[in-house]
Amino acid sequence: MVNAIGIDIGGTKTAIGLVDRDGRIIFREVFATKGPDESIREMMGIIDKIIENTRDIQGIGVGSPGPIDSKKGVVVCPPNLPEWRDIPLADILRDRYGVNVLLNNDANAAALGEWLFGAGRGVQNFIYITVSTGIGGGAVLNGRFYEGENANALEVGHATIDYKGPRCGCGNYGCFEVMASGTALARFAREAVEGCSDSILAGYENIRAEDVFEAAKMGDPLAVRLVDDEALYLGVGLTNVINSFNPEMIAIGGGVSKAWDMYYEKMIQVIEERALPTNYETVQVVRAKLGEDIGIVGAASLVYNLSME
Ligand SMILES: [Zn+2]
Repeated sequence: MVNAIGIDIGGTKTAIGLVDRDGRIIFREVFATKGPDESIREMMGIIDKIIENTRDIQGIGVGSPGPIDSKKGVVVCPPNLPEWRDIPLADILRDRYGVNVLLNNDANAAALGEWLFGAGRGVQNFIYITVSTGIGGGAVLNGRFYEGENANALEVGHATIDYKGPRCGCGNYGCFEVMASGTALARFAREAVEGCSDSILAGYENIRAEDVFEAAKMGDPLAVRLVDDEALYLGVGLTNVINSFNPEMIAIGGGVSKAWDMYYEKMIQVIEERALPTNYETVQVVRAKLGEDIGIVGAASLVYNLSME
């Protein structure tokens, strides 16, 4: 049985796992992400251990926050990995282990994982979108992984949905991410409670997106309105993706997808009203299936995808 190693580098933690050909995680270990030197040392300690116990490793896949250079396998300068600058991680791991090492941005890797092993199995035109602290995405088009010219395709989080909207971290205004991410929902809630002290949310010191969903479930009128707006923004952002790519399926993952039932109906209604009928009729919008495993499985999928091409 041939396996692949998946490494999911995140702003706070790094997860490493051994993933079999069916997308199952056989072994996993997690550590707190530090600077590159220390993190790579820790990474190698875990990989050494995996390789000691497993003979057939087909390769190592790495999902990293962008920007990255997938062709050179370099972590360029991710804003949430402050000390990581131009780290040739693929070369470092390839030199040590003598196997294929593929590096891509985490959203692209997640899209591939969800396509090979999750909701997107067998779908020819598939888009994955993660809605959590930010919004990112990846695509498989005509049955092939699509990463764009330098692995930055499907940066849908920075497509404008309100050109007069709030300033985004990217410098633009009213990006999908600054309107509809979990961070945005929490920010809108914090702004709203200032003028509405009878909301349950007014009692929270630091409102999070999940608090808003929880309060809406209890019928808090302010929270219900905020979740309604969230559904609207998601619907508008997804309509752009549906009209641009004419996909067969969009799978939504990330923290905000956990509250799926709270906004799904309204979101679909917005899409139905706004998307081109030809594109609306052919698309299925579903919740991603891989859940918390998507980081590791997505990274390992970079290796499995290579063996299919
Ligand atoms: Zn932006």
